[in-house]
Amino acid sequence: MNFLRDSIVKGTVVNDRLVAEGEKVLYKTYNRFPIVFDHAEDVYLYDEGDNQYLDFGAGISVCGLGYSNALVKEAMKAQIDKGLLHTSNLFYNEPAIEAGEKLLEAAEMDKVFFTNSGTEAIEGALKIARRYQYNKKSGKTEIIAMLGSFHGRSMGALSVTGKEHYRAPFEPLVSGVKFADFNDLESVKAQITDKTGAIILETIQGEGGIYPATEEFLKGVRSLCDEHDLIMILDEVQCGMGRSGYMFAWQEYGIKPDVVTVAKALGNGVPIGAFLARGEAATAMVPGDHGSTYGGNPLVCAAASAILDVFKEMDIPAHVREIGAYLWETLDNIKAEFPDAIIDHRGKGLLQGLEFATDIKVGEIVSNAILKQHLVLIAAEHNTIRFVPPLVIERQHVDEMAEKLRMALKEVTSGDR
Ligand SMILES: *Cc1c(COP(=O)(O)O)cnc(C)c1O
Repeated sequence: MNFLRDSIVKGTVVNDRLVAEGEKVLYKTYNRFPIVFDHAEDVYLYDEGDNQYLDFGAGISVCGLGYSNALVKEAMKAQIDKGLLHTSNLFYNEPAIEAGEKLLEAAEMDKVFFTNSGTEAIEGALKIARRYQYNKKSGKTEIIAMLGSFHGRSMGALSVTGKEHYRAPFEPLVSGVKFADFNDLESVKAQITDKTGAIILETIQGEGGIYPATEEFLKGVRSLCDEHDLIMILDEVQCGMGRSGYMFAWQEYGIKPDVVTVAKALGNGVPIGAFLARGEAATAMVPGDHGSTYGGNPLVCAAASAILDVFKEMDIPAHVREIGAYLWETLDNIKAEFPDAIIDHRGKGLLQGLEFATDIKVGEIVSNAILKQHLVLIAAEHNTIRFVPPLVIERQHVDEMAEKLRMALKEVTSGDR
């Protein structure tokens, strides 16, 4: 017992030392929790003191397959053992071709470009829109984006992100962007001019507070794009890769975008993203128009290729629909138990959110859950807690989460902090 206690104390000392060093070294653009994770297994994370945390954040919707998938690990190890981590895009590499074929099949698209992140996928998608209209000499350079959206932090992605407080300090940004209300087709129509070239939106707004597009809205946007020859870009960086209960969220709606962005769960933790396009959009850019030194390198593509195999073999979307329904029922019960605190429950599959009354700070609930209950949760806009567990969770993990969440809610809502 003494040994165990000593090792926990030692872990705490190591943890605190690393947090202090991190404060000194790392550029402070995040408010981090004072926790250093050391290892992970299944759907659990372990800190320096070997405390176990149930993960309902998946590294922000990234670790879809959790932390122990043997096939993914083996695929990466095998590529490392080949000695070839990188070739540059002056050459072909087999993992990129394999991962590309599997991703195109899953998304029913014609061409794929691999990036290193979701943000870079957005940059590429925006460039396709501009290039497509440039090829047609249409002069249609404007882009309509949605209020409440999140597309990333680079100057281009920020330009189409519908949150004033993210954009303002960095203006002037890319010009020609107009914002419309999400799920309000009239508001989109009102922004269309003879200069509009593209519409970009998330199929399910993630950071913005877990708002799925309505079927009417998504189909309406598709029709507007057809009518006015606009490129329809769907950002599925967060809601794609099975999270909605479909491989890609739009597949439930019976429409197809012209361009789609993917990242997060595509690499399960290795940095990879992609933009995919079909039809004329798939050939709008030509050699010399776009590039990336690392993008689609053999190491990350070996991982993505294995991940796409696992998604198919395990039928992850079907599993997500099943467990997602159970999570829905569980969170609905919790909502009923805390009727004054919880005012809305939104989402699809394993991308769900609980919105809290304005007198309750979700930050406090999330802190309590993480620090005291050892349950990793993430906040989103609109006073919402986001539930984005690994896609491989089972019912028992939902039950365990519910128990921990109830404890956190009781403490925070009773004012006993
Ligand atoms: C996370 C996210 C991005 C940005 O992806 P990064 O990999 O962080 O660059 C873009 N769009 C959406 C919808 C996201 O959730």
